Amino acid sequence: MKMDLSRLHDENVSSIVFNGQIQKDEIDIDGRRIRFIEPIKHKGEIYKADEDYLINLDIKYKYEEICGRCLEPFVREERAFLSGKLVKKTDDIMEDEEGEIIYYTDEKLDLTEEIITMVYLSLPMKPLCKEDCKGICPQCGANLNVQECNCIAEDIDPRFAVLKDLWFRE
Ligand SMILES: [Zn+2]
Ligand SMILES: [Zn+2]
Repeated sequence: MKMDLSRLHDENVSSIVFNGQIQKDEIDIDGRRIRFIEPIKHKGEIYKADEDYLINLDIKYKYEEICGRCLEPFVREERAFLSGKLVKKTDDIMEDEEGEIIYYTDEKLDLTEEIITMVYLSLPMKPLCKEDCKGICPQCGANLNVQECNCIAEDIDPRFAVLKDLWFRE
């Protein structure tokens, strides 16, 4: 996806509005596999502020992932935002510009990489189908969100188990 910035040279143009989508199948992050079930959508605006071009972008994506607790796939929709200053890439680039800088060349702006990065950063820390996912029973493997099982939770500390035996002997 490339955007033509040359329109902004026109004095009568103070901003350009745009939208688009990026086709991306999946990304792998630290062993997590994020599968996009529709193109990553974005819409935003580039506007002039004194000598600079500023950008604001709203990103929306829908993906499928495997829950880390119950191991079932789930689908979620998330949003991300990208904003910053557009700086034309030249040979004498100042590396210590403040704030979020997005470089472009030849009046063409390609935000694909930035958008994917924002998606990456906006993903929830843990892959969970829901906040209170009960997970699977470690003994019988039942998905505890769907059914309860009859396994008895043997989560007694072995040191106390000895005490329990003593108590019940009397
Ligand atoms: Zn789950
Ligand atoms: Zn069980």
